[in-house]
Amino acid sequence: MAECLFCRIASGELEAAIVHQDDRVVAFRDTNPQAPVHILIIPRKHISSLNETSEEEEATFGHIVRIAAEIASEEGVADSGYRLVANCGAAAGQSVDHVHFHLLGGRSLGWPPG
Ligand code: 5GP
Ligand code: ZN
Repeated sequence: MAECLFCRIASGELEAAIVHQDDRVVAFRDTNPQAPVHILIIPRKHISSLNETSEEEEATFGHIVRIAAEIASEEGVADSGYRLVANCGAAAGQSVDHVHFHLLGGRSLGWPPG
């Protein structure tokens, strides 16, 4: 998807503060952080939202969760606590149509979320 913002970050066409990348996923710092640690983790493959996932992607999504835990440890929030969240659709506030998981930590996070 040439016009997709996160595809362009994944391909290296657009700059981002990348904290992890491998053949399946890319993780980079959010430019509008909502917590001291705010990292976005995306599949390299363009999938517009969680609604578009298929059985084919199960391994990639499992990989994302494991990488999130690794990054949380590297960022020093594994023990204090963190949140991994994906917004899906308008009511949840999804603003970029390429599946992404927010890894948030470094402060106390309210529940329920807004
Ligand atoms: P959503 O609202 O779709 O759940 O999350 C999209 C996130 O992408 C937002 O937190 C927003 O700050 C972040 N974002 C939007 N554009 C860019 C960008 O160009 N670079 C980076 N690193 N983050 C972005
Ligand atoms: Zn994309």
